[in-house]
Amino acid sequence: MKVLKFGGTSVAHADQIKQVKDIIAGQASERMFVVVSALGGITDLLIKAAESAARRDERYSDIAREVEKRHIETIKTLIPVTKQSGILSRVKAELNTLDTLLEGAFLIGEITPRLLDKIVSYGELLSSFIISQFFVSEGLDAVLKDSRELIITDESYGKAAVDFDVSNSNCHDYFEKAKEKITILPGFVASSSEGNATTLGRGGSDYTAAVIAGALDAKVLEIWTDVSGMYTANPKLVKQAKAITHISYEEAMELSHFGAKVLYPPTIQPVLVKGIPIIIKNTFRDSDPGTRIELNKEDTEHTVRGISHVPSIALLTLEGPGMIGIPGISKRFFEVLSLAQISVVLITQASSEHSICIGVADEDAKFAEKLVNEAFAYEIAASKIKPVIVEEDLAIIALVGEQMKSHQGLSGKMFSTLGKNNVNIRAIAQGASERNISAVIRKEDVKKALNSLHEEFFEENIKQLNLFVMGVGNVGSKLIRQIEQQQTYLKKNLKLNVRVIGISNSRTMCFDEEGIPLRKWEELLTKGQKANAVEFFNKVLEFNFRNSIFIDNTASPDVADIYENYLQNSISVVTCNKIACSSDLDKYLRLKEVSREYNAPFLFETNVGAGLPIIDTLKHLIASGDKVRKIQAVLSGSLNFVFNNFNSDTTFSGIVRRAQEEGYTEPDPKIDLSGIDVMRKILILARESGYSIDINDIKNESFLPEESLSTKNTEAFYASLERNEKGFQELYTQAEKEGCKLKYVAQFEDGEASVGLQQIPEGHDFYKLEGSDNIVLFFTDRYTEQPLVVKGAGAGADVTASGIFADIIRIGNF
Ligand code: ADP
Ligand code: ASP
Ligand code: MG
Repeated sequence: MKVLKFGGTSVAHADQIKQVKDIIAGQASERMFVVVSALGGITDLLIKAAESAARRDERYSDIAREVEKRHIETIKTLIPVTKQSGILSRVKAELNTLDTLLEGAFLIGEITPRLLDKIVSYGELLSSFIISQFFVSEGLDAVLKDSRELIITDESYGKAAVDFDVSNSNCHDYFEKAKEKITILPGFVASSSEGNATTLGRGGSDYTAAVIAGALDAKVLEIWTDVSGMYTANPKLVKQAKAITHISYEEAMELSHFGAKVLYPPTIQPVLVKGIPIIIKNTFRDSDPGTRIELNKEDTEHTVRGISHVPSIALLTLEGPGMIGIPGISKRFFEVLSLAQISVVLITQASSEHSICIGVADEDAKFAEKLVNEAFAYEIAASKIKPVIVEEDLAIIALVGEQMKSHQGLSGKMFSTLGKNNVNIRAIAQGASERNISAVIRKEDVKKALNSLHEEFFEENIKQLNLFVMGVGNVGSKLIRQIEQQQTYLKKNLKLNVRVIGISNSRTMCFDEEGIPLRKWEELLTKGQKANAVEFFNKVLEFNFRNSIFIDNTASPDVADIYENYLQNSISVVTCNKIACSSDLDKYLRLKEVSREYNAPFLFETNVGAGLPIIDTLKHLIASGDKVRKIQAVLSGSLNFVFNNFNSDTTFSGIVRRAQEEGYTEPDPKIDLSGIDVMRKILILARESGYSIDINDIKNESFLPEESLSTKNTEAFYASLERNEKGFQELYTQAEKEGCKLKYVAQFEDGEASVGLQQIPEGHDFYKLEGSDNIVLFFTDRYTEQPLVVKGAGAGADVTASGIFADIIRIGNF
């Protein structure tokens, strides 16, 4: 004999009930008890109707009509026309009684818990009647039995306690007498010994099934629902969650107690004492194996079995000097709550006894506050205890696993994962059984917290990076193409799932929380909303994704201004925009500080030498204790390109234009030609070497005439280059005469930096620098005679994009 329970999610509509019938018919050789919930959503509607009636809101009758409509439609779809009339008239009669009860509540303007139980019981009474009639009409050997005649409870309406002695014996008597193979029963409803309708608590149909299974020593209890078992986390919030195939009663209880709604927590007790296994199955994917819950089988492989959460709690903190060493304070605190039937979900107490903090359901918070303040009125008046502090809009998140007690470091890992993702922890509790560690966090962080913990404990393999890309010109669009090309490789080889969630240019921005399909990002961006850097930032916060990275491919000071806000929210920043690192020293130092404080990497490798690993190399030198004494470098890919191609057969302005067209210059070429760009780069290298310098400390003797330096726009700039062609040609011939090449060199020594055009003789490290190459010579305490040299292509959209990409991967491995 077995007991099956089908939840509201399995019997919401006629076509789902047909699937339930197929499942039952497929196993009908065995005797079985089938417990059903109300049609999905009906219990909520009944409660809403009752509450509206009690508020004298006439709209309660609209809700009652909706309840009626759902049932009538279900009958009309399920039952053959010839058999409908008897069933319809019986259901209509029941609905009339329900109307009368609601009208009563409306007229009195009040609803008692007893009347509410009577009203909500109609959900299961109607569904079980309709389903049993359907089964019979389909030729199954089925009968309906009213659970209220079997399960007897006390009169704690809303969540009544079962009298097992009486209920077990009722079940036995019925079992002996009934002849039909299949007995259908309404879940959730019961009756008091006085004969009043009671209910077993929200989600209580699971419990009805467990009480019957326990009473009749069923072989198994099957809970059929809309997911394929108990998952490692709520599958509606964590896409990567997996069904757990085997789990102990204790672990399942812990998970359900901390919010895994798939099983109503009291369900386990009646079957646990008899050792009856519970199997959770999916009505809509019945070939999935589901989850088997049974006596503890040592599972040494999985330490953490699941992560669950209670979505809505409040914390109450009682504190004050009068609490220390005085016995009985906690007793009184708990007593007053328990007398009011307020259940305490979590407790923490500081070892100093100076404060005690408990978690209760959000809806109980106000009442609990009033009761506690009344109970301690004397101590509060005497300033020995402060009035209770209430914090609402919180949630509990819990790691659960039988084996957690024998593993060190789990809580460390849990809290550092939450910390890294800027999830603030308000309180922590560890169950005495050491089967769970729970933390109280803000409600809005739940999804992020669940997903980051899930990634940490269950997907060791794959880490998700969520990118927000601002600026999709030359560099940005190349970056997106590279990401698109590498997505599969990264997943397979580096175990990184890189998704682009947001893209913006100066006109529009677009987002997709599932990841923007990169094949058609241009089309989606064009259709996107109006761009705004602050709005973009707000969107990133709103998504509240773990491992979020903001990528700045612009040259805009306004965008650089927002980095600090990103970092303060533990969002990493990757940028090829040099403005932040080359502006005020204070600002640069602050960004570094905030990055450290909030555990959010701030990477800007491409600020110097595009994709070349210059800053990274420097960081390693410094970290390993080396000291930089001197840097000599050619750091402008664009100037190098210009002077490598400029000769007596060309014009200077023509070559500069070509450099711009080929993407080697900054959007404004004057930034390169004036030397400002190189000044910023040497400044950043000096700062990264540990020196405190500002841009004004750098000497720059420009080779450009004054009139070119003072132009107001790019066209005027080109015009002035054309006017001064002769001067540029002179620079060239002079160098040629000396057997030298022109190179724009940056130098840093003894704390002093300078930039300028130099004639480089043959044999010098810089002489043979091709195309847009960069070169950096680091002279350090360890590299004294021969410098450490980094050399290679130092400009161009493709290499810059790949440098940004490398920073993203660095964060992925962080
Ligand atoms: P039923 O109507 O069948 O009783 P419920 O809505 O009560 O169904 O419970 C099933 C739901 O429980 C799932 O749809 C899922 O959203 C939720 N749930 C929460 N945590 C978990 C978990 N850890 N594993 C599976 N489901 C979970
Ligand atoms: N119908 C009841 C509820 O929604 C009981 C259940 O579905 O388990 O809470
Ligand atoms: Mg349920």
